[in-house]
Amino acid sequence: MSEHVRVRYAPSPTGEPHIGNIRTALFNWLFARHHGGEFLVRIEDTDQDRLVPGAVDAILEGLRWLEIDWDEGPEAGGPYGPYFQSERLELYQQAAEILLGNGSAYRCYCSRERLEQMRKDQIGRNAAPGYDGRCRSLTAEERSDLEAGGGPGVIRFAMPGSGVIGVQDEIRGYVEWQNDLLDDFVIMKSDGFPTYHLAVVVDDYEMKISHVLRAEEWLPSTPRHLHIYDALGYQQPKFGHLPMILGPDREKLSKRHGATSILEYKDTGYLPQAMANFMVLLGWSLDDKTEVMSRQTVVDNFDLRRVSRSGAIFDQEKLAWMNGVYIREMDSKDLANLAAPFLAKALENHDLGEKLPDGQDYWQDYWFKIVPLIQERIKLLSEVWDRTGYFFQDEIDYEPDNDPTALIQKGMDKDSALTALSKSLDCLASAPVFQNQPLEESLREVAHDVGLTPRQFFGVLRTAVTGRNATPPLFETIEVLGRELVVRRVAKAGERLSAAGGNAQ
Ligand code: GLU
Repeated sequence: MSEHVRVRYAPSPTGEPHIGNIRTALFNWLFARHHGGEFLVRIEDTDQDRLVPGAVDAILEGLRWLEIDWDEGPEAGGPYGPYFQSERLELYQQAAEILLGNGSAYRCYCSRERLEQMRKDQIGRNAAPGYDGRCRSLTAEERSDLEAGGGPGVIRFAMPGSGVIGVQDEIRGYVEWQNDLLDDFVIMKSDGFPTYHLAVVVDDYEMKISHVLRAEEWLPSTPRHLHIYDALGYQQPKFGHLPMILGPDREKLSKRHGATSILEYKDTGYLPQAMANFMVLLGWSLDDKTEVMSRQTVVDNFDLRRVSRSGAIFDQEKLAWMNGVYIREMDSKDLANLAAPFLAKALENHDLGEKLPDGQDYWQDYWFKIVPLIQERIKLLSEVWDRTGYFFQDEIDYEPDNDPTALIQKGMDKDSALTALSKSLDCLASAPVFQNQPLEESLREVAHDVGLTPRQFFGVLRTAVTGRNATPPLFETIEVLGRELVVRRVAKAGERLSAAGGNAQ
């Protein structure tokens, strides 16, 4: 590519950072990094009624979480600032003056009521909605009368009523529009703020953007932008419209399909690397088959020719699978550190706050031993409590409804379960070393001596020690739990089962 690449992500701070929007940021970032160009963030906050407090911070937090760094923009600054549109009003006003001066735009004084009536009439006649051009041909006298009566009004772009305008889209190929289907749209509102159409053109030009890569929903706005570029005498950037993101039902992705805010994914325990890898595949592919890729591989190979034109399906199951892949590949200490806040929150919710692993060496070491036991099994960091709660609780419940007869395994009766418990207790209490292999060997012998299968015997022990019927490998779990806790739980299981009614299973 001969020209210097400068791309931008231009969010409107009107709510949570939507996954589709962040995908646009990611693709722009990849494009910039691949070409050694700049990636800018520009906040499009000209629609003052729709601003949501905190939205800018949330957007930037989403970018930081995914390690999408920006060369220019909020916090970073840069030579083409300010990077908030609300601080660039003068530039838009100057552009509007140029357009008024060269006849490409005009002031419109139509009242809201008139515009509403016009719209109703158009709907009634089944005509295309749009401004009817009444203020386009006012005489100077009419104009000054209207201005005296109702203020400066809005500024509209004067569309040519015929002909076509087109663009070679970097992703979609050549796209063309008929001018007579586009109305004279507003470029400057009566509050002195520009509309998106004017501001986006002025800024992309002023900020020397080489490629406008944005979501497909902006394609219908593109002919308007092209006309503004021409009317201002600006050279056009290249355009590329990224495919829509769809739910599994092929409808546009929305809350109905699950979480749409990138921060919800962060809070549920997705890893940023997995999330970014998954998002890369929402419209781009390396070779139609490779799914798990390092960030560097994607940067090295990112090419708009491999961006698809058809909608990309957001598949939650694939995302969870991918997250599991990344979790398994991690260093277990790094995983333990990442998962620690999820554990901490759960401990607090269960009034076990004093057991927080953070900062206390003992708990930290304990957590470092636990995490490798679950690393192969979890897909989300938020699962850690479900998988490890029994390492922290003083009292455990027996699944499914805390009935001690859950200790009795298939083919056993209460007496044989009680025997298994008392024999295990002796063995565990007196074992010379409390380590998984020697414990397993001695307990296998005990099982054999009392005439139970390992499956039965270890089943009783598993329920007694963890309350669950499925856990990480039993003896590793027992070793990490430690002798004191294990002995206490096995003794307690014996007491609870003796006291319980019922018998065989
Ligand atoms: N402010 C628009 C948005 O929120 C940006 C559209 C564009 O990139 O031109 O998506």
